[in-house]
Amino acid sequence: SDVGSQKERVVTEEEWLQKWEMGNIGFHKEEGNLLLRKYLDVLLNGRSGLRIFFPLCGKAVEMKWLADMGHSVVGVEISEQAVKEFFSEHNLPYCEEPVPEISGAKVFQSTSGNISLYCCSIYDLSSSIVGKFDGVWDRGALVAVNPRDRQCYASLMINLVEKNSSYLLVTVSYDPNKHKGPPFYVPESEIKSLFG
Ligand code: SAH
Repeated sequence: SDVGSQKERVVTEEEWLQKWEMGNIGFHKEEGNLLLRKYLDVLLNGRSGLRIFFPLCGKAVEMKWLADMGHSVVGVEISEQAVKEFFSEHNLPYCEEPVPEISGAKVFQSTSGNISLYCCSIYDLSSSIVGKFDGVWDRGALVAVNPRDRQCYASLMINLVEKNSSYLLVTVSYDPNKHKGPPFYVPESEIKSLFG
């Protein structure tokens, strides 16, 4: 397929912050994503008490679902507003601390301890800061990454997962000449070459 029209497109961090400020967040789904329910067994693979990563997490309600099932959830999100809305909309008390390794970054942690949301760019994270994960829920993340940054994103994700991890990825299929994205159209062949 021809993805040429999207290859050069860049959405800046400032633009994402503005979307949150303007409430221009059509990607956020109050009711959560049914695909996670459908493929939960694939993610968990019979395991309990997993560490699950939400890249570009927004205020995804699925973080609460998984935490309530006894998993520990780590997310990363550039918008502090999004992170604060997540905790307040679920009535979760939290504390806020700087991340010594990343200048300007903060981590917001639920008082119960099982949800930690890093407020910084995902490209500032590494496994030495956040550890490695048993599972990943990637919805609105790879497809939100600027096309030119996909390789960098995928390499980072590969670095952040344990050997026996499960990675659920949601993509969207449409004619990339008719919509500029995000969400961007990521062809299956590209997903294969990014993640192997
Ligand atoms: N996964 C969420 C949000 C999808 S929208 C959901 O399913 O609802 C993409 C989110 O990524 C936005 O909230 C945006 O603010 C955030 N974002 C964009 N670039 C980022 C970056 N480099 N690092 C961290 N978060 C980023």
